[in-house]
Amino acid sequence: MIDALAPYRRITIKIGSALLVDGQSGKLRHEWLALLAEDLAALKAEGVQIVIVSSGAVAMGRKLLGLDAKVLPLDQSQAAASAGQIALSEAWARALGAHSIVTGQILLTPNITEERRYFLNARTTINTLLGLGAVPIINENDSVATAEIRYGDNDRLSARVATMVEADLLILLSDVDGLYTAPPSKDPAAKHLPLVAAITPEIEAMAGGAASHLSRGGMTTKIEAGKIATQAGTAMIIAKGTEPHPIRLLREGGRHTLFAAAESRAQARKRWIMGTLALAGTVHVDAGAVRALHDGKSLLPIGVTRVDGGFGRGDAIAICDPQGGEIARGLASLGHAEADLVKGRNSAAIAGILGDDTRTELVHRDNMIVLSALEVKAG
Ligand code: GLU
Repeated sequence: MIDALAPYRRITIKIGSALLVDGQSGKLRHEWLALLAEDLAALKAEGVQIVIVSSGAVAMGRKLLGLDAKVLPLDQSQAAASAGQIALSEAWARALGAHSIVTGQILLTPNITEERRYFLNARTTINTLLGLGAVPIINENDSVATAEIRYGDNDRLSARVATMVEADLLILLSDVDGLYTAPPSKDPAAKHLPLVAAITPEIEAMAGGAASHLSRGGMTTKIEAGKIATQAGTAMIIAKGTEPHPIRLLREGGRHTLFAAAESRAQARKRWIMGTLALAGTVHVDAGAVRALHDGKSLLPIGVTRVDGGFGRGDAIAICDPQGGEIARGLASLGHAEADLVKGRNSAAIAGILGDDTRTELVHRDNMIVLSALEVKAG
């Protein structure tokens, strides 16, 4: 039996409303959630990091506030999200708490996932929670999102979250077991596709527009999510989650569609830097530079304390922290002699030494791979 999840170490799982909330009564499906929590605890015990994107706030809030119109006007659906989100996070905290797993709640809107400053901050919070062994539970901040600036569906939100945390897999658990050559409700001859190597216009055409009754996202938004995820190097699985133990079922051979991750140009370049190039030297940096590199910034000479080796411009060098541990690797924009001259200096001083048109960074972030746990594995 092939465990579909075996290759992956950091997984974002999107749970649709139709799974968490009973369509008839509007009540939380407690037992189903408890069994899902068992599956998640088992996965986590194997060292897999899990980020949950959970829908269900609006569906639960409707019930709590007694709103039963089929389609709620925006103000009521935002009020429903507000009331329902409390119940939703409580349910998650309880379900995972039963396995001594702590949950953290994060509510996002597109301006947070798209604006670099907020993006970095949200990413740091999620990474910190994961580092502490907690499971982040994420939803859209529906109660304050504006009509124009909102994802509106958690398929695409979860794809952004997965790429933000550099998950190697995104699982969309919903009431469909994958992609078919045509929407199966309309075409009984439709065939299930176990693997999609690339999302082509043909694949998009197969998605049609079928949506389930409680969640907003039909197959179309799932394919859009697939584009976001796979282009950033995150694989995606669409699987049916309605039965008890949905993740266990998936691991035991349950039917699903896998969308293979595309390797981006940046990833290919980083893999090349990491795997192919021989190191021509080493630079040692101070604690401030270590933080800057982890924040995704370039290495500036001011943070460099020592330069070793006879590297030339364009050569691969190792970057070591004050304790001498390698924290990153990249291509030097300056040769060793110039680097030695400008180490510890700010940009103005460097212009005085090397002239105005010299690049002020020693290793540009696009030419650098920071050795987080994930990337060491990939390298
Ligand atoms: N964020 C919405 C909620 O929690 C769900 C959106 C969706 O189902 O895609 O109710």
